[in-house]
Amino acid sequence: MTQLRNTVQGTFLENEPMAKHTTYGIGGPAAAYITPADKQDLASALQCAHKHSIPVFFVGSGSNLLVSDKGIDGLVFTLGKSFVNLEFDQNKVFAESGVMLGKMVKEATKRNLTGLESLVGVPGTLGGALVMNAGAFGGEISNYLTSVEVMTMEGNLKNYSAEDISFSYRHSTFRDDEIILGAEFELLEADPDSIQSEKSKASEGRKKTQPLRFRSAGSVFKNPEGEKAAGYLIDKAGLKGTRIGDAEISEHHANFFINHGEAKAEDIAHLIRIARKEVMDQFGIMLDLEIKTLGFKEGAFTP
Ligand SMILES: Cc1cc2nc3c(=O)[nH]c(=O)nc-3n(C[C@H](O)[C@H](O)[C@H](O)COP(=O)(O)OP(=O)(O)OC[C@H]3O[C@@H](n4cnc5c(N)ncnc54)[C@H](O)[C@@H]3O)c2cc1C
Repeated sequence: MTQLRNTVQGTFLENEPMAKHTTYGIGGPAAAYITPADKQDLASALQCAHKHSIPVFFVGSGSNLLVSDKGIDGLVFTLGKSFVNLEFDQNKVFAESGVMLGKMVKEATKRNLTGLESLVGVPGTLGGALVMNAGAFGGEISNYLTSVEVMTMEGNLKNYSAEDISFSYRHSTFRDDEIILGAEFELLEADPDSIQSEKSKASEGRKKTQPLRFRSAGSVFKNPEGEKAAGYLIDKAGLKGTRIGDAEISEHHANFFINHGEAKAEDIAHLIRIARKEVMDQFGIMLDLEIKTLGFKEGAFTP
């Protein structure tokens, strides 16, 4: 660890509570939380971790993450603060993976480019959005993607074209051992009024349906294919308002679990088990997690 600390030029926070880096405000310490200064810094840190077989995890801004109360036995890398370059060349966009999605939407719409406006209000970085294939109100981040640059654990750069990666509903086939550095998109030019109208529709829809005043990680479960939405099923199972400690299944949107202040990861995990069990018992459907989990034992979410 000392060697690694001396290697990193960016920030290196040892024993860093992940609660500070997740929108849930939940999560025990990571052995180290690292924001590399640049590509060279990232490459040296990854090589060092790889050489010493230290487990490594990549995160963006933690808006889709549940981290266990025990924390993460490994290094957490984020590019959220340092890889934030965003450039436009007519309808082409190049963004580093730490760019906030909201900023991309704003800058694209300012230039009368369509393709991202339905994602207005989705929190998080571009890196997280690509891994999750973030989507909302009919649009997905992968729709206008052309290529992605990643770095391997050996510190080598690799390029994928959009066709090399499969994207589906809240899923992509990026490898766990490669960190996304940036991506290129080709958007379309469109009439500013129609872009603005799509953006407003998405924004108002979100405000109406989501408990945005509270800490959450967005939808906990994926909507099951060909079935009613997960939130509908949890609601019909009679679970809205179910509370464990400071964690609650939102009254406003049953697929959002919220932290009223002091919720523990175990409280959220408990609600997840309850929701899965009740929806299984009442509708015969096993809900799949949409949120990503770090630092839990196998079976932690099995009812
Ligand atoms: C209020 C609220 C509303 C939301 N609404 C929506 C919505 O409408 N639609 C939607 O799709 N999502 C929604 N989300 C979920 C979340 O915002 C998205 O999934 C977002 O794209 C996650 O980005 P992030 O940077 O926070 O990623 P994180 O949560 O930090 O990470 C998500 C995943 O990406 C991986 N990852 C992140 N960065 C990198 C990288 N550079 N390289 C490799 N892997 C990486 C992580 O390992 C993890 O597996 C919502 C969340 C909240 C809190």
